[in-house]
Amino acid sequence: MDYKIPWVELAIKEALKSTYKNGIGNMVRVGAVVFNKKQVISSGHNYGNRSLSRSHNRKFRKFLNSIHAEVDAIIRARTNLKGASIVVVRIDRSNNLRLSKPCEYCEAYIRHVGIRNVFYSTNSGKIVKRRVQCRE
Ligand SMILES: [Zn+2]
Repeated sequence: MDYKIPWVELAIKEALKSTYKNGIGNMVRVGAVVFNKKQVISSGHNYGNRSLSRSHNRKFRKFLNSIHAEVDAIIRARTNLKGASIVVVRIDRSNNLRLSKPCEYCEAYIRHVGIRNVFYSTNSGKIVKRRVQCRE
């Protein structure tokens, strides 16, 4: 498939690396690529974080027992991300794109590091763009 947005294929490749399963045993595979203009800065995928899940209250575990792809990619960037963009994709069992709108925690983190544009996949297999709103 030919996507207008760069690095979608790379984000899908990242998602394929994920082996994460949610609380009810379903695979949840998400990949993310941080880029600036025509250059890839970093990429990442979601994975489980056992040390966190053990140390936290059961009620909050579902939020804390994994590192989201957006966070993984941002951590791997190790550079100033002001004005950069991120593309996030989720794939299902048949490797079709599914909705991957960043959760509120990732969204806050994305805003915090200064990323301006977020691209994410939808259930209809499209990639949509959203500009990050500045709070101040
Ligand atoms: Zn998230």
